Amino acid sequence: MEQTLIMIKPDGVQRGLVGEIIGRFEKKGFYLKGLKFMTVDRAFAEKHYADLSAKPFFNGLVDYIVSGPVVAMIWEGKGVVSTGRKLIGATNPLESAPGTIRGDYAIDIGRNVIHGSDSVDSAQKEKDLWFPEGINWWRPSQHSWIY
Ligand code: ADP
Ligand code: MG
Repeated sequence: MEQTLIMIKPDGVQRGLVGEIIGRFEKKGFYLKGLKFMTVDRAFAEKHYADLSAKPFFNGLVDYIVSGPVVAMIWEGKGVVSTGRKLIGATNPLESAPGTIRGDYAIDIGRNVIHGSDSVDSAQKEKDLWFPEGINWWRPSQHSWIY
């Protein structure tokens, strides 16, 4: 079953959006498989965003991610990587559709509330980075008739 790494960034935590964001993924029908409240250091943030290291905004992005605690989660379900990105909305919140998380709660591309893996491949890498200890075995097979 497909899994993705969703991370509520420091602004999302500080603005009290944790419950709202978790609720959106839950109500869509995805399963919460891992959840951590944590603060990451620069080396960790640089690794997470390694693909963007040449970008002019890279240092500011790292400053942002280390600026306070984040909530890292693994969500599971059919098509959760691409549908998770749809729930999140476009990178620039001014272009994110209303009804998406960024479209409803953000304005600034540098404070866009939430991260979601952009492919099945990067989801696997990000899961290994953020949850090296592994995640819970739980699977709601006894409720498979719900969805
Ligand atoms: P996404 O988070 O939608 O996958 P990217 O992977 O392209 O977007 O970028 C990672 C993060 O870097 C964005 O979510 C945003 O926080 C930040 N970012 C991207 N582009 C810019 C920019 N032009 N200026 C400032 N921050 C940016
Ligand atoms: Mg990305």
